[in-house]
This record gives sequence, C-alpha cells and structure tokens, in this order.
Amino acid sequence: MTAIRNKDVAEMLEGIADLLELKGDSIYRIAAYREAARRIDSMTEDIANIDAEGRLEEIPGVGPSISAKIDEYLRTGHLGYLDSLGKQVAPGLAELLRVPGLGARRAELVNKELGIKSVAELVEAAREHRLDKLPGIREKMEEKILREALRVTQRTKRLLLGVALPAAEEVVGLLRDHPAVKRIDPAGSIRRMKETIGDIDILVASDRPKDVMEAFTTLPIAREVLAKGTTRASILTEANLQIDIRVIKPEEYGSALQYFSGSKSHNIALRELAIRRGLKLSEYGLFDDRSDKRLGGRTEEEIYEILGLDWMPPELRENRGEIEAALEHRLPKLVEEKDILGDLHLHTKWSDGSDTVEAMVEAAIKRGYKYAAITDHSRSLGVAGGLSDEEVREQRRLIEGLQDKYAPFRILHGSEVNIRTDGNLDYDEETLRLFDIVTVSIHGGFGQTREKIDGRISSALRHPLTRVLNHPTGRLIGKRTGYAVDLEEVLKLAARMDTAVEINAQPDRLDLDDIWARRAKQLGVMGAIDSDAHSTGHLGFMRYGVAVARRGWLEKKDVLNALPLNRLLSRLHSSKKAA
Ligand SMILES: [Zn+2]
Ligand SMILES: [Zn+2]
Repeated sequence: MTAIRNKDVAEMLEGIADLLELKGDSIYRIAAYREAARRIDSMTEDIANIDAEGRLEEIPGVGPSISAKIDEYLRTGHLGYLDSLGKQVAPGLAELLRVPGLGARRAELVNKELGIKSVAELVEAAREHRLDKLPGIREKMEEKILREALRVTQRTKRLLLGVALPAAEEVVGLLRDHPAVKRIDPAGSIRRMKETIGDIDILVASDRPKDVMEAFTTLPIAREVLAKGTTRASILTEANLQIDIRVIKPEEYGSALQYFSGSKSHNIALRELAIRRGLKLSEYGLFDDRSDKRLGGRTEEEIYEILGLDWMPPELRENRGEIEAALEHRLPKLVEEKDILGDLHLHTKWSDGSDTVEAMVEAAIKRGYKYAAITDHSRSLGVAGGLSDEEVREQRRLIEGLQDKYAPFRILHGSEVNIRTDGNLDYDEETLRLFDIVTVSIHGGFGQTREKIDGRISSALRHPLTRVLNHPTGRLIGKRTGYAVDLEEVLKLAARMDTAVEINAQPDRLDLDDIWARRAKQLGVMGAIDSDAHSTGHLGFMRYGVAVARRGWLEKKDVLNALPLNRLLSRLHSSKKAA
C-alpha cells in the first residue's frame, strides 16, 4: 500500500515537472519538482502519514509550495494547479503525461506527429506499432509505453462524492433550462450520496431525445464524445470525468428514476414486495401482473404509494430496514442542511488554515449559521502551526474582541486538541478551561496497536472537558484505512460520557461513515457534523457530512450543531456525568 501511495504522489510531481518543461519554464523549478518526486518515490514511510502529522516539509527538497500541493492532492485526489497547467499546453498532452516514462518530449512527439490525444489512442498506436516509426522510439520503448499506458487505463478508481456530485450538478445546471428537457436528475449512487461513486449517471425526461443528445454532446465542458445513441450518450469532461446520460419518456420517468437510483439490493427487495402484491415493477413502470395494466410510473412517489410504502429519501435506499420502516410509517425525518446552525471545527491562519478568524466567521454568517467554533490545532502539532499556551490566550482575546462586531452571531473559542501518543491531552487543565469547546483528535501514532489507540481515545473521552471526538478512525478514503480502533467500545464510552462524535465532512474523510453514524445514533451518541474547513471555501463541505448523517438515519435531534445556541451552550457548560 505504502509504495503505491508514495508512487502516486511522485507521479503527480513528475507530471507537474513535465508540463513545466513543455511550457519552457525555469529549469530550476522543474528540477525541484523532479527531486521531490525522486525523494518521495524512494521513501519507505507513508506520505499520507507524514502529511497527517504535518511533517511534509521535513522531506528534503519539499518546501511550502510543494508541500501545499501534496497536501491538496492527498486530501482531494486532485490538484487544481496541475489541471490549470494542463490547460496551458496542447489538448491531450496533459493526459498523455500520466503515462509514466513517456516523458514530456516523447508525449509532444506522439501528439504532434501522430495526432494522439488520449491514453486510449496511445495504446492503440503502440499495438499497431506506429510509435517505433518515430525518431528516438525503439521497439523496447514502445513495449514499455504500451505496458505503462495500459496500467493507467486500468486504474479504475472510484470517485469521491465531493468530485462526482459537483460534476453532475454542473451538467444538470447546463441542461435544465433546455426546451427539450422536462426533468433532469443525477441518478445512481450520486443520488444516494454514497461516499464514493462508480459512474456519473444522469437521467432526463423528454419527448425529444434527439435534441437532448445533441445538447449534451455539444456542451462546452465535453472534451470528447465517447458514445452517442438515440437515447443514451457518454462524454468525457475537461476534468477527465465520464458522464453518462439517458433519456426517458416523461410517463416512465418516475419508475426509471427509482430503478436507476438503486441500490440494487433495495430494488430487489422492492420487486419482491411487488410480486407479493400481485404487481410487477420495472424501469418502465408498475404493472398488474395478470392483466399487464400499467398502474403507475410517472413519479417515484406513486410507485412507493401503490406498493403501500411511504416515499423515502434516496440516501436510505440500501435495504437496511428502510422498506420495513416505510411499511410501518416510521421512517426517520432525516436531518437537512438547513437544520445545521453552526460549524464546530474550523481552522484559521493561527494554525494551518489559510484565512483569518474574521474571514471564517463572515463565511459562517453568510451560510446562515448562528454560531461557529474556531478550533485551531494544539501545541504539539508544531508543523501544522499548533498554538502555544500563550497564543491560545492571545487568540482568546482576539475572539472576545470580535464578539460585539458580529453579534448576535456567537464565536466559540475552541481547540482541536491533539491526543498525545500517551493518551494525555496537549494542554494542561488551566489552558483547557479557557476554551468554550474542547474537541480531541488523533493525528499521530497511527501504527500503534488497537489496545494502545483504544486506551488513548478512552482517556481523552474520560477527560471532563472533552466535548467532541473528531474524525474517529483517521481514515482517508482511497488513501489510508485509518488506525486500528474498537469503534463499538469508543461509541459506548462516548454515550456514557455524553461526548459527541464527529462526522467529519471533508470529502476524503467522511469519518464516521454512514454505518457507524447509525450505530452511534442507536447507542445514543450525538453526532457533530463539521466541515473541518481550512479555508472559507471548505465550509460548503458541510453538505457531504449531512449526506453521511442522512445515510446513517440521523435526525435533527441527533446532531449537536443543529441545537440552538442557548441549548448548545448549556450542554457545553454542563459538567460530565461520572464515568
Ligand atoms: Zn484533525
Ligand atoms: Zn481539523
């Protein structure tokens, strides 16, 4: 695992170097990226771990600029800088550079001489031995390029919801007002807001499929049309994402939307229920099994209704008890983004955030929040700019001075206190007492045994001032599984200590996940849905955390930061129940 992750980062840096080279950038800058790539490729320690512990700049050759890029890449799986560099060179070149070993010069050569603009075309050309006709490419090299190009095309990574959903919404936004489009929705796992997405599927209701096909395949964001039929088409976007569209007759739209939203196991259970009722359910509608008479299908609601079920939000459709609950009219009333009254996990320039306290507060107010907690890192996270005891007091004075300016909005002075490897919190009692809200996190010692980690979390939860346990497993989706921890025991203890547990809304964390969020609710633990924003732009991640909460059946009453300010304050001030 380690080798792959470090290799990904090294390849990303090589990609930057290649693009800079094509642009004729400074040879020193290019060399710096190559040197950093070489170092990281040969390291044995996991780069994600080093990043989590804020030690990237300890790697020789990695300065603030490269370290910020690595961090962005590890967090989101993408790098904005790389995308924008890619746009400054000939179309297709950036994609070709993803093939390791091809290199800038050869990429330019095959692009210019053979008109190759994608990895797929490169594979084709190598198979047809068109590459070794070019100067400087021998047969051995051609074989190597083919091997590496195939490896790139076979790297089928699932997309983060935080990448797939905005892409789907962009397409929906661009087509919604088209005269041929009656309705348009993302379907599949995007509609169910799963943490990762396989395919981006969009459904359209229309009587004029031809016009929809034309509009979709000529969208300005379509870089390549992969397929175009009479009712289905696929494009590759500028951001290299495949988006599939399917046009449905308006009278069948409800049944199609239900069918293509899934999940598979929810649909199987639903079809079995239909059969028991003498009905037949398919993507084309709901039919009487004997007479084949069509009973419904224009809307999803009528399908669920005819089956005797309450309509249920797509997030619940995983066959985890939602059908039984809908039959008995006891579906949860899921928490919504508008129920969230504040964000309890925000970073500023005081530690590793990129904006000021004022900017973060103003962004929170703009979202309609009533309160927000500034929770910068604690002192032992030196490289992440953790606050010394003196800085905590300074920051407290600053925040007190700002309260009047933003009233009635309330700024809570908090801290993301590191749980040290020995289980102690990172500040002494006197400093901890200064905060309005103490939240605790594990940021290091990921390799410890489960017993050790359990012990650390348990002693942090038992601390009378702890109010929230952040990102409880430490996972980064697709990059690291997190530390070993007995979550069941952690949640039981959190329930006893009346401590909330975070659903961290960063798209690559979503930690707790949906399954554990539901378990937390069952055990009576409050959830805290936080953006963990490191800049004002991150406050919008809240929607992904809310999605996880909804998939975990959480209601407004189960969420700490859905409490009105006065009730939140009395909870924060109350002393803990005995352990
Ligand atoms: Zn953290
Ligand atoms: Zn944080």
